[in-house]
Amino acid sequence: MIVLVVLVALVALVALAVSARAKAQATLVALDCPCPGGDYYIITIIPAGKGAGAAMQTGVTGVFYHPLFSRESWPVMRDKFRHFPAAMEELLDLPQVKLIQPQEVPMGLLQKVHTDELLYGMQGKWYYRGALLSVGGCVEACEKVYAGELANAFVFDVAAGHHAGPAHAWGGTYISCSGPAVINLRQKFGPLKVAIIDTDCHHGDGTRGVFRGDSLTLHSCFCSHSDSEEEGTKFCVPVGWRCTDEEYLQMIREHFIPAAEKFQPQLIIHLLGHDTCRGDYGDRGLSTAFFPAAVRELKELAWRLCEGRLVVVTMGGARADLTSIIVPASIRVLAES
Ligand SMILES: [Zn+2]
Ligand SMILES: [Zn+2]
Repeated sequence: MIVLVVLVALVALVALAVSARAKAQATLVALDCPCPGGDYYIITIIPAGKGAGAAMQTGVTGVFYHPLFSRESWPVMRDKFRHFPAAMEELLDLPQVKLIQPQEVPMGLLQKVHTDELLYGMQGKWYYRGALLSVGGCVEACEKVYAGELANAFVFDVAAGHHAGPAHAWGGTYISCSGPAVINLRQKFGPLKVAIIDTDCHHGDGTRGVFRGDSLTLHSCFCSHSDSEEEGTKFCVPVGWRCTDEEYLQMIREHFIPAAEKFQPQLIIHLLGHDTCRGDYGDRGLSTAFFPAAVRELKELAWRLCEGRLVVVTMGGARADLTSIIVPASIRVLAES
């Protein structure tokens, strides 16, 4: 009897795997223990999205990428995406990975974050379109992940990001990514709680400015500062100028993870700068293996806290050779089961 039931379970698992490939659809299968008084197993099938529980990966990983990102040499980040999309070709063949070409972010969303003067100053800048597409990707990724259309997402970003505050922007990032994304989420789904972790080398002054006074957003920035504001919902962790991969991961576990567990976000955004990698312009001694390891840590956290809702957005880093290792490895972690 046991053999028969196990065989049935295996057939069901194979069928589900095939079905998941065909539909690129989320499914979790749990085999419970033998029931008391009976020698059979219960197979529980839980659909994706709400109620998916503590599984690792269900469904599709969205990769938001525009060919324009590979054609230019951007301010600060330069031509680090020049090997893409070829560098992630193998991943794009996976049934659970979906390439999505982003649209420009609507101006109305930008106007809710930035002053008219800042936006006016962007008109005519050659990198403006790249920034608009990057933020558009971030907005769409957060919306689709929150709505359950995607399990998680990886967003390519140029000329936009964490140094863009409401009225001032610098450092290669000229409009905000997470600001418009969070505003869009709240317009569509209500007052959601979002946790942002920034592991770029430099302080995310722009992001901090955008979310100042917003108690529904946790902003945790790993940099050289050590401040804590607004009852701990805005804080920085001083990483130190040299650290090992394990030391940095331990800092994430000691500082961000407990804060997020207390905060209980409904979505996590990871601003993944890899300027901290050995040989890049913000070198803090990290290896290329650190970045997918950090994504794995955050993916597990997202499953514990918010049904796996994690959006990873690239930030600083300028070396194309490092980018071609770190980005595909991070996407692979998001897509793996
Ligand atoms: Zn940086
Ligand atoms: Zn900081």
